[in-house]
Amino acid sequence: MAAVIEKSPFRVVHTVCSHDCPDSCAVLVTVDQRGRAIKVQGDPSQPVTQGFLCGKVAKYLDRVYAPERILYPLRRKLGVAKGPLARGREHEAFERVSWDEALDAIAARLQMVSEKYGPEAILPYSYAGTIGVLGYGSMDRRFFHRLGASQLDRTICSEAGGVAWNLVYGKKMGTPTEDFRLAKLIVAWGANIHGNNVHLWPFVEQARRNGARLIVIDPYKTRTAALADWHIAIRPGTDGALALGVMHVILREGLEDRAYIAEMTHGFEQLAERVREYTPERVAAWTGMTAGEVEQLAREYATTQPAAIRLNYGVQRAEFGGAAVRTIAMLPALTGAWKYRGGGGQLSTSGAFLWNKKAVERPDLALASPLGRLARVVNMSELGRALTQLGQAREQGSEIRDQGIGNGKPKDDRQDGPAVHALFVYNSNPGAVAPNQNSVRKGLARPDLFTVVHELFFTDTTDYADYVLPATTFLEHKDIQGAYGHYFVQLSQRAIEPPGESRSNVWLFGQLAQRMGFTEECFRDTPEEMIRQALSIGPDGHSTNAAMEHITVQDLEREGHIPLGFHKEGFQPFTSGPLATPSGKIEFHSETLAAQGLDGVPRFVPPAESRFGEAAARYPLEFLGRKADNYMNSTFANLGGHRKMEARTTQRLEMHPTDAEARGIGDGDPVRVWNERGSLELKALVNGSVPAGVVAARLDWAKMHTDGSNVNALTSERLTDLGGGPTFYSTLVEVGKA
Ligand code: SF4
Repeated sequence: MAAVIEKSPFRVVHTVCSHDCPDSCAVLVTVDQRGRAIKVQGDPSQPVTQGFLCGKVAKYLDRVYAPERILYPLRRKLGVAKGPLARGREHEAFERVSWDEALDAIAARLQMVSEKYGPEAILPYSYAGTIGVLGYGSMDRRFFHRLGASQLDRTICSEAGGVAWNLVYGKKMGTPTEDFRLAKLIVAWGANIHGNNVHLWPFVEQARRNGARLIVIDPYKTRTAALADWHIAIRPGTDGALALGVMHVILREGLEDRAYIAEMTHGFEQLAERVREYTPERVAAWTGMTAGEVEQLAREYATTQPAAIRLNYGVQRAEFGGAAVRTIAMLPALTGAWKYRGGGGQLSTSGAFLWNKKAVERPDLALASPLGRLARVVNMSELGRALTQLGQAREQGSEIRDQGIGNGKPKDDRQDGPAVHALFVYNSNPGAVAPNQNSVRKGLARPDLFTVVHELFFTDTTDYADYVLPATTFLEHKDIQGAYGHYFVQLSQRAIEPPGESRSNVWLFGQLAQRMGFTEECFRDTPEEMIRQALSIGPDGHSTNAAMEHITVQDLEREGHIPLGFHKEGFQPFTSGPLATPSGKIEFHSETLAAQGLDGVPRFVPPAESRFGEAAARYPLEFLGRKADNYMNSTFANLGGHRKMEARTTQRLEMHPTDAEARGIGDGDPVRVWNERGSLELKALVNGSVPAGVVAARLDWAKMHTDGSNVNALTSERLTDLGGGPTFYSTLVEVGKA
């Protein structure tokens, strides 16, 4: 709705919040006569946004017009070493250059790296700094495919859980967000709804007004946990054990839905056999619950309908997080909860948006690259290793490691290859968010590594950049977007001109392609053309993508948001087949995994870095590098207003009184947290936010810490059992008075 209000000096423009959040809010931006945005508000006509924005984005203009915003291309001054720069004085390390100078120099260096080491020595690094279809992955993918650059396995957030959910259901879909209002029991499993999925909360409240109970399963006492009827603070990484124990009780007491199981599922016998060993007593010993609590949860879950599980991505960031998500995802299939409107579960709805990615990303361009094939794949969760070890094994005549085994993905024989000599970062801040920060920094500090960062602000990553290029916010570029927390296709209009010389991803990579001499027409596509490609607009003007056939670009321009075709009153997923799994049914047992020698039915294994592992003798505390309610990973952490909202836990280590007392630590004492990868200096906050044996600190920018490190100084590059994701929440530490 790029609507102009008649006779008003203001325009109100429909945009979409493109931050990495399930809610994908419809945002109305009021723009004055000078072209300046003066107000942002949630679109009241969008059924999930319902007219409000979260605390992160309600004050978005503070970000758009922040005085610290980078507005011009910058080049590192000669002789300035790479490494942490004093906050607020970063600009002193750089000099302003024109876009032409920057693009010419970057293109020349990429060309040189490609010729000297092979194009796979160039590594793009991006994630969900923007989740619009074009901003997330379009012209950039075309560019890097055509270049022959290494492909990036974008695993850092949701891969383990996504692979796990798809193994069970074939598609990342779930209970419609609006239908949670109909539930009689809501289980928020690793889901801080009130903090990070706040547009689900009004539906939760509506359900509770109608008598529903809210159970939160989370080792940390989040805002949501504090508001729950029952907060179950299990130990980190034991979610899979709890889900298996719940199944044990359900089957022991005959509470399963046999008719649903017979009609819709595959592998029930194998599952029943597996869960027999997970008695409430054994599960209690792992999770820290009592056996009675495990039984109570199972009975309440199985005998209340509709029961909805909101499962979020925290669960899968443990070493066996893939198995945990698979197991939890099976619960509504065991009880037949999908049959009841408002019941079932939701991890993500992103699988419902079948964008034409081939047209948008053009992987076929790899055939025209100097490689003549798709390039090797580098896992972004192992960036430190990639920057410090890749290429060396070849010189030593051996392979580095086999990343393909055990992560549920086919083995990639192209893992080895040249060292990375050029890194192109956009939509991400790996200096803050990637695991094993010291290893990442060691790699970023290599004087021979050429690094380009496309960013809005100086970050932990720009401290290592050769070139910093100014990026746009979602108010300043056009895009199309789905969601992973609802079923609406939305168009995000450009509301304002980009400030200074900031430019979008689409513009940047289109320009670079031309500098590199890529003559393919697709590098000249406009955002409008790419939106039509994403939608697969057919000759009659309608999308030919599944569930989008009723959508035209004109309708989207006018409406701003349109529901997917199936998203009508009464839609209930997984109530009829065939599903997109190998058996066409919900899979309790996966032949695919069994054929790879993996667990056909999930089981529970405690993480190596947990109180049950050998390393606990040296590092006895389980560490949670948790996310802030008012930041988006590291995004927003530089803004004063947002930091104020998080002041309570700034540079604090939350500890249980038992653990603090055992170490002679009092509330407010300076403490050091350490393990073999790094250390962190914080102040103790002795409270009841974590169970005994667990400590927690918040993710923000390393450069804002007194010692220049953040929580990722402690996390490892160990990968999850499925999907090759990071294991942020399987981290052991010791703590002492500083
Ligand atoms: S961050 Fe999430 S809740 Fe906040 S405005 Fe963006 S989409 Fe909405």
